[in-house]
Amino acid sequence: MADENSLGAILRAQGVSRRGFLKFCSAMAALMALPPSMVPAIAAALDKALRPSVIWLSFQECTGCTESLTRSHTPTLEALIFDAISLDYHHTLQAASGEAAEAARAEAMKKFYGKYLLVVDGSIPTKDGGVYSTIAGMSNLDMLQEAAKGAAAIMAVGTCAAFGGIPHANPNPTGAVAVSDIIKDKPIINVSGCPPIPVVITGVLAHYLTFGTLPELDDLGRPKVFYGESIHDRCYRRPFYDQGKFAKTFDDEGARNGWCLFELGCKGPTTFNACATTKWNQGTSFPIESGHGCLGCSEPNFWDAGSFYQALSTPITPVGKAAAVAAAAGIVGGAAIAMHNRHVKGAAKSEHQTVTVKDLEK
Ligand code: SF4
Ligand code: SF4
Repeated sequence: MADENSLGAILRAQGVSRRGFLKFCSAMAALMALPPSMVPAIAAALDKALRPSVIWLSFQECTGCTESLTRSHTPTLEALIFDAISLDYHHTLQAASGEAAEAARAEAMKKFYGKYLLVVDGSIPTKDGGVYSTIAGMSNLDMLQEAAKGAAAIMAVGTCAAFGGIPHANPNPTGAVAVSDIIKDKPIINVSGCPPIPVVITGVLAHYLTFGTLPELDDLGRPKVFYGESIHDRCYRRPFYDQGKFAKTFDDEGARNGWCLFELGCKGPTTFNACATTKWNQGTSFPIESGHGCLGCSEPNFWDAGSFYQALSTPITPVGKAAAVAAAAGIVGGAAIAMHNRHVKGAAKSEHQTVTVKDLEK
């Protein structure tokens, strides 16, 4: 259970030295994409912060999101973050089961009413009264509504919780919806991805630990610090894209030369996530580096958006305009999307407010 000790006191009691604590703060700053000059202010904020209670509910899902979290490549940091929060209920990770587990959830909801962070992975089935997924005899719909009442904020982890995900895909037999379709009166942060990147999950938790608030969000409710740029913006194959050098099959000369995977269906130009920078599996690689295009899994309706292996068609709306102008100028459609993405990137950057030392000290 969470207690009233500050995080600094808890970490010191665990034998974490001042030097170790500052190292932890440096790692947190890096996770939140803040400059090293912010470390002392983060240390001061964390030293005073109280240990938050976290209730984690898994609904209509595949457990991929929790699997992803447990593969975080910074075990020391992850361990420290999980020591620094009080994970009072998590279906998959808790030792308790049955009535004891539900009693723990009820107790945490009562004791920390109005203060706990509610984390949800999985979508919520709404058809036929929500009968398609239940826990302890309670529908996911009822459990979400009950747990959301006393939450300070909600973190929707994974594309299922954020946007409905695969269960929401056509024909959506269970009437699956996202957390934000049900809960309208609480701050919600969407940490999308199928699954989300482990360090993005811990990074958002780190931000919440440090500031007690959610980070700045984009128009889909995702933290801009991790979702502010497209995969395409940061892709190391981008120079080939700009030169019009595209692999045509997965084993042709272009593929062997590491050329752009756009024509093989890569959704990098329309997908916002941090895969190209944080990477996966201990920072080893990400799908494009392994020779496969991006599937667009952090975007709404990615499953219904057409074949994973079909190149993005000439884009509609703002991109379509760019494509039309580019076509008139004799530029290939791919370059039009590049123009569009430079615009999106510029807009995301200009909307992003810089965090100052004063903000940290609030
Ligand atoms: S978002 Fe993906 S990984 Fe997470 S629960 Fe849904 S299907 Fe599984
Ligand atoms: S289309 Fe895909 S592979 Fe090509 S540069 Fe963009 S993100 Fe990288």
